[in-house]
Amino acid sequence: MISMPEAIDIVLSRAAPLEEESLPFPDAVGRVLASEVTAPRPHPPFPASIMDGYAVRSADVPGTLRVVGAARAGAPLGPSADGSETHTGAGRAVYITTGAPVPPGFDAVVPVERVSFPKGEGSDAVAVADAFVPGANVRSVGSDIQRGEVLLHAGDRVGPHELGIAALAGVSEARTRRAPMVAVLSTGDELADPYARNYKPNGHTDAPAPIDPAAAASSSDRLDVSAGSIFDANRHMLLACAREAGARVMDLGIVRDDPDALAGAVAKAMDAGADVVVASGGVSEGDKDHLKDVLLGSFGRIAGVVHFGRVMMKPGKPLTFAEIHRVSRTDSEGGCSEDRDESRTQLDEKKTKQKPVLAFGLPGNPVSAAVTFALVVAPAVRRMLGWVDPRPRRLQAVLAQDIALDKERPEYHRATLDWEANDSSANLPLARSTGRQISSRLTSMRGAEALLELPRGPGFVAKGTVVSALVIRDIGTQGGLQMPRVRPKVVRPTNAPDRVLAAADAGVAKKALRDDEDDAKKFAPRPKAIAVVTHPFVPAKSLSDLARESDVPDSDRAVTDEGNDDAAAILEATRRFLQRAGVSTDGDENNAWRVFEARAENGTSRRLALAARAAAETASIVLIAPSGPSAVSSQAAVVAGTDLGFPGLAPRMRAPLEKKYDQSAKYDDDEERSEAEDAAALAAIAYRETGFGINAGQVAGAVVASLPCTNCEEALVEGLTKMLLVPREKWEGLVL
Ligand code: AMP
Ligand code: MG
Repeated sequence: MISMPEAIDIVLSRAAPLEEESLPFPDAVGRVLASEVTAPRPHPPFPASIMDGYAVRSADVPGTLRVVGAARAGAPLGPSADGSETHTGAGRAVYITTGAPVPPGFDAVVPVERVSFPKGEGSDAVAVADAFVPGANVRSVGSDIQRGEVLLHAGDRVGPHELGIAALAGVSEARTRRAPMVAVLSTGDELADPYARNYKPNGHTDAPAPIDPAAAASSSDRLDVSAGSIFDANRHMLLACAREAGARVMDLGIVRDDPDALAGAVAKAMDAGADVVVASGGVSEGDKDHLKDVLLGSFGRIAGVVHFGRVMMKPGKPLTFAEIHRVSRTDSEGGCSEDRDESRTQLDEKKTKQKPVLAFGLPGNPVSAAVTFALVVAPAVRRMLGWVDPRPRRLQAVLAQDIALDKERPEYHRATLDWEANDSSANLPLARSTGRQISSRLTSMRGAEALLELPRGPGFVAKGTVVSALVIRDIGTQGGLQMPRVRPKVVRPTNAPDRVLAAADAGVAKKALRDDEDDAKKFAPRPKAIAVVTHPFVPAKSLSDLARESDVPDSDRAVTDEGNDDAAAILEATRRFLQRAGVSTDGDENNAWRVFEARAENGTSRRLALAARAAAETASIVLIAPSGPSAVSSQAAVVAGTDLGFPGLAPRMRAPLEKKYDQSAKYDDDEERSEAEDAAALAAIAYRETGFGINAGQVAGAVVASLPCTNCEEALVEGLTKMLLVPREKWEGLVL
């Protein structure tokens, strides 16, 4: 008896990719490409704007420009209205929307957020304060897809996304392999069709007759079979399996345990163009098990080679595989009318031209039929479709319980897979048996995602053992594929900072100040130091994660992704900025600026606020590195943790500050004011004078700002520019 791996090898050696055919691309989903797909045209086909804004000539900005027209997606800029003026020319801009062609002569797009309207919105003047490089915010021709680029490779399976790629490039036809036609029959005198009354397939079931749901429901109670009969499960199950594997299907119905009827049904399938015939039942050793003899040609119409008729496996020992061709019935038992007139020579000619049909005799027990289909028929179908590796995927799993072994045969034990936390360090899935494995108990296939490849006994495989498993359906239908979320290890850019000016934990910085009087004096009252509050990344946690961690205080829990581990990058960006800005970071400690890291335990607003407060004692400026998808926690930290927190963005919170600023301008210097009033005034001035577009507040006299996380470096530059350079005396005066 051969082993199952040998059986799979034999089947795959006889199955070959079918002929090529061309299909409209949308019809090729599920097929495998027979040749590569190249792009007949570039995408985008014109220079396209990435943003809504204004097309400009980069040489003209910064500056104030005149808007001379509009280019919208689908409505490019036409010739100028009076014909007297070209659109291009110094000092002109064109309103443009995302996806619209950038008009000739323009080479950059300024996002609408980055322009102002000196003569009011709706006027034809836009002012751009910043420089834009040529090509800024423009997708050049072919930047996504180049003409002639190989988009899809031969052997690629066409899925929705591959179809999308072909559609975007305007490729109309797919060169694929023909899908095999799989004919399915059930054998057994005991079988009755459970759907016969509602569902009468006429051979090809690609388009099954619709079932009237009302009729089906009302008749289900009446479904019954005579004594000694059972319902045919295999045929319906295997037709669905074949469809799922990518085949077209043909339903040959139930065939009684009669070799002539069987030979007739198989011959009919072959005449109708089947590439594969799948029969279930009738391959064991009983006196009504005729399939092997039929396949060998003992009953005419068909004849073939049986490659194997028994496999050393459980379930499915009688699995039979043959290659058959169509022949005439030549013995005296009476012929098949359609063949009778053909001469021997004609038949022989036909036979040599015929490609053999693959015939599978699956065991009748439904579990055996399902398992053997998954192990040998599905791979054969996939090979015919052109799959590069048609075998079932193998993975490893940890047994969730002891499993007793069969003494005689290796077993393919049905199991579900579950990636919930387990002891396995490799984070392998847990494999749970689907229960009693007797081959007639089809409910052991319910939810089965894998077949565990267990060796022959005696004995058992213990719980916790790692075993191999063949995947037989999409994982995850039973709660399977859901691994804990991990933060990937990040490889830092190689141009790492040669030197971080200084690094200190917020707590340490505070302590150092207390312990070392000299140092404290050196930095007091407003040291020339910038503290960058960083915090480790904390992935968002689900409610169930949170429930498991009952010891974590509520306020320390991350409910969104937050944190920024990139301390080195932020510190380096700060340092680089200071250097570019000509601010000394070297030399005389009294004049040079110092940058240090203040590390918060985590990115919750409370922790960030504490770290900022500690850092403020030794710094003039405290930057809270981005936290969360919209910097929620770092902004909250500023609001919650500063003496006078206020976000610079929300008008509702900006208004009282503006009011305070106006008030403070009227203060008489000699007037007695409370400390709180002083602080409020200072914060208002800091806010107004530094013109923060980012959240800022004040802690113990230091400016504390949170950076939005979308672009840390940009935020840094913006924040620092405003705090340090524009104009420097203003903030220095404020914080010193
Ligand atoms: P066989 O392989 O024909 O000896 O059948 C083995 C067992 O499977 C018997 O108990 C049959 O009644 C059962 N069986 C065979 N074919 C089917 C089928 N299509 N659906 C459900 N059970 C079946
Ligand atoms: Mg039978």
